[in-house]
Amino acid sequence: MPTIFSKIIAKEIPATIVYQDELVTAFKDINPSAPVHILIVPNKEIASTNDVQPEDEHIMGHLFTVAKQVAKEQGVAESGYRLIINNGSDSGQEVFHLHMHLIGGRKLGPLVHKAD
Ligand code: AMP
Repeated sequence: MPTIFSKIIAKEIPATIVYQDELVTAFKDINPSAPVHILIVPNKEIASTNDVQPEDEHIMGHLFTVAKQVAKEQGVAESGYRLIINNGSDSGQEVFHLHMHLIGGRKLGPLVHKAD
């Protein structure tokens, strides 16, 4: 069963794709947390970082070079941005197709809130 992100990558469901090549696809998050919120997703269905294999290293590295390019195109390369990959339940991962959030366009505050 393809993930919702695989359907976006295959253009079977709509999304605002800002970058795509043979390894990764980047598109706007449907529920943005900041003025710039892009998801950068391997075209290969890797469920989470727990499932990354040695042969995926070129894909994982490519996520960063695409993040750099997308950050520049989105106008946040100089102002700053945060890259986040959630993994598993405690992180709040909702979609089990590995993805990097690129978030910026405002002051982002602390990385992780302290527990109450
Ligand atoms: P995570 O909690 O790290 O798994 O993040 C999943 C992200 O996917 C959330 O920020 C959602 O807003 C986003 N999302 C879910 N469905 C879609 C969709 N159809 N198009 C764009 N973003 C989506």
